[in-house]
Amino acid sequence: MDTPPLPPARDVAAAEGWVREHLRAFVDDEVAGSPRFRGGQLAADAALAALDVTGYAARRNEVWPAARRGATAISPYVRHGLLSLPLLWGAVAAEPARDRDKFRDELLWQEHGRHLYARVGSDNREGLRRTLVGTPVGTTAAREAEMVEGAAGDVWDRSMACLDVTVDELVTDGYLVNQARMWLASHWAVREGRDWRDGEDVFYRHLLDGSRAANRAGWQWTIGTGTGKAYGFSRWQVEKRAPGLCDTCVHRDACPIEDWPADPPLSATEEHPRLRRDEDPAVTAGPTSPQVTGRAEQVWLTAESLGDDDPALAAHPGLPAVFVFDAPLLARLRLSGKRLVFLVETLADLAERRELRVAVGDPVEELAGVPLATTFAPVPGFRRRAAALEIVARHPWPWLVAPHGGSVASFSAWRKAARRTRTG
Ligand SMILES: Cc1cc2nc3c(=O)[nH]c(=O)nc-3n(C[C@H](O)[C@H](O)[C@H](O)COP(=O)(O)OP(=O)(O)OC[C@H]3O[C@@H](n4cnc5c(N)ncnc54)[C@H](O)[C@@H]3O)c2cc1C
Repeated sequence: MDTPPLPPARDVAAAEGWVREHLRAFVDDEVAGSPRFRGGQLAADAALAALDVTGYAARRNEVWPAARRGATAISPYVRHGLLSLPLLWGAVAAEPARDRDKFRDELLWQEHGRHLYARVGSDNREGLRRTLVGTPVGTTAAREAEMVEGAAGDVWDRSMACLDVTVDELVTDGYLVNQARMWLASHWAVREGRDWRDGEDVFYRHLLDGSRAANRAGWQWTIGTGTGKAYGFSRWQVEKRAPGLCDTCVHRDACPIEDWPADPPLSATEEHPRLRRDEDPAVTAGPTSPQVTGRAEQVWLTAESLGDDDPALAAHPGLPAVFVFDAPLLARLRLSGKRLVFLVETLADLAERRELRVAVGDPVEELAGVPLATTFAPVPGFRRRAAALEIVARHPWPWLVAPHGGSVASFSAWRKAARRTRTG
């Protein structure tokens, strides 16, 4: 296995250089780390120490200027398992009740998206209960050209101040508050009738927290394929959530989004067969205690779980860890350089405390024949690769809510079923 040494920790320029040297073939944009977010457990711990949800309930939807916001910006660390949902749930126990409860509610939204994805897998890329009868804009070739532009985030009309500030944050920092995600997603799919899956891909490339679970759930929620009710975006939200922004806009006197968009043409589709019922929630959830069948030689880390508290890492303190940048997958995804820099920073930070080898290739080939310990990850890619590897110790995923066999069709149905399960 070719294992290039990682750059020193907390050195963004070195992490960027590493990505240029070893991962350049997978990146279309400039390789530059997010100016705002540093990868690594140390940075995640600092974000946790600074976590203060006072005022969260009132201000989580504020967009601009940034000083008005209540959102915590911890999502990149949540995405890669540096801050687990149970940890965050406990961390806000002493906060004011209204803010604590609102924050915990959002953690549950994250958990719901994970349960849905764990259960239906990549079928969450299709309309689960309804489809949007949108005509994708242009021919395939035109759409492909558009998506290349999309890598730079220029498919939204940047002459509009509301789109410009949000797209800029997306492509520069790799982050957006929830409200801004809804604006961009709604503008793309509801007002402009573009294919939501293309927009989801643009988000996925740029967001440091980009996950197929939460991102697809967020897009589907925005366009209404689950609930039947789309989220319309117009000037009204901008004036409410970004007061003063319209005054800076060249379109202030003739705003293209003055009015609400028309409801998108949704049509009922055959519901996914596992949406309301899971015959085997134990398989969906993965092990509830370590499953050990042999003696592991290395701990295999995945992008789902890169924290010091990764259950497999913690259970095998003497073993070296290994992470493989999945070359075939990265060749398809075309992630923005800042996502890869964030991952390299995270790995470099971990390598200060654990022996860690990093490779670039196909994980199944790179790890062939090595008895591995790993943490179960509730995503289809993990299942596929794990099935082809020699996993001798499989550790449980740190769920906030144990997956149940009831409905995941909507957040409220899922919560109701979870409560029923808990009370037996
Ligand atoms: C179109 C669209 C796409 C999205 N794509 C993603 C994505 O790829 N990855 C992702 O993690 N989230 C995604 N979300 C959900 C949400 O917008 C982000 O989790 C949140 O904005 C992250 O910022 P924060 O940490 O400041 O959130 P905070 O408001 O501070 O919330 C704290 C944590 O709660 C969770 N959370 C908050 N709101 C939501 C929500 N609506 N749904 C699910 N979890 C939530 C996140 O883990 C977040 O880090 C998307 C939402 C929409 C509408």
